[in-house]
Amino acid sequence: MARPAPSPAMPAPGLPAPGLPASGLSSSSAGAGIDWLVPLPHGLYCPPGDVWIDPVRAKPRAIITHGHTDHARPGHGAVLATPETLAIMRGRFGAEAVHGQPLPYGQRLRVGDVTVFLAPAGHVLGSAQVAIEYRGRRAVISGDYKRRADPTCAAFEPVPADLFVTEATFALPVFRHPPATREIARLLHGLSVFPERAHLVGVYALGKCQRVIRMIRDAGYDRPIHIHDALADISALYEAHGVALGTLVPASGATAGDLKGALVLAPPGAITERWARHLPDPLVAMASGWMGVRARARQRDVELPLVISDHADWDELLMTLGELRPEEVWITHGREDALAHAARTMGIFARPLRLVGYGDEDGDAPGGDAPIAGPAGA
Ligand SMILES: [Zn+2]
Ligand SMILES: [Zn+2]
Repeated sequence: MARPAPSPAMPAPGLPAPGLPASGLSSSSAGAGIDWLVPLPHGLYCPPGDVWIDPVRAKPRAIITHGHTDHARPGHGAVLATPETLAIMRGRFGAEAVHGQPLPYGQRLRVGDVTVFLAPAGHVLGSAQVAIEYRGRRAVISGDYKRRADPTCAAFEPVPADLFVTEATFALPVFRHPPATREIARLLHGLSVFPERAHLVGVYALGKCQRVIRMIRDAGYDRPIHIHDALADISALYEAHGVALGTLVPASGATAGDLKGALVLAPPGAITERWARHLPDPLVAMASGWMGVRARARQRDVELPLVISDHADWDELLMTLGELRPEEVWITHGREDALAHAARTMGIFARPLRLVGYGDEDGDAPGGDAPIAGPAGA
């Protein structure tokens, strides 16, 4: 996949290195023996590249896997990311605030003493795995990812790795996501059975919203879809990147008459807001991997839980480990222990990192920038 196209090196930020030695920091004595990638409280740091991956605090140099606010934080000196992720970050933090260098999928770039390239992660528009090569070995940091088809972003590409760093959001055997097309069909069935009721669907603003809309269109629904104001900018950005979403109209300007039997999308935190209660006899749905947990749906008064996730489920996680067969796997966040156990039974050296600050998607994290907060989402 990687076109070997040497590009200029990432510019030095003009700030001092954190002063870490280039080796001897890893506690792993078995496995891939990669000691040039280090889990620190603010995220993963690569000393020979003097660069952080998805740090949760502002750093001189950062490689960002994707635009969700638990991974893409403001204030870095220099950002390396896909052009799409940079556009998402600029949309959220302001063009001036993001000093970025775009790195399209598959292009190799020298960063300090390491070589970096990005590969699609299949999570949201622009989402990338980060491959870092040094001294003949390769570490691949997946970021958030899924293996299911998603018409709004490039599909996950397996990249052979000595060390694979994975998420574990849904790493329990109870998490087996149904086909998303089936969930969309349930939503459209609801509309046909209750043609008078507004169908209000809670969706995360980045990724889930556009994927759900695109799938609704692919299922043949061509009426206007009403969206909460908080979903407008990012949906426009998707359209600008070639993801056609059909006619979207602001829900804020619609009358009760307009909304009879209409499809209305809003961020998860908004589905219980006052304006939502003024919709004509609303049927509340929510699209999230967590909707597979009945208690979560009940907690939020969700009448129609739609299990649609942008994260790998248990089977996808195991499939990925089985396909890559890395010597070593690091597990960043989620249900680390279950996945670590499964990896060890496959003969893979596994290390749960328990990184803090990830897993609360799309502005739901404390300090996230989305206008409306909700619970941890996926
Ligand atoms: Zn994410
Ligand atoms: Zn995440």
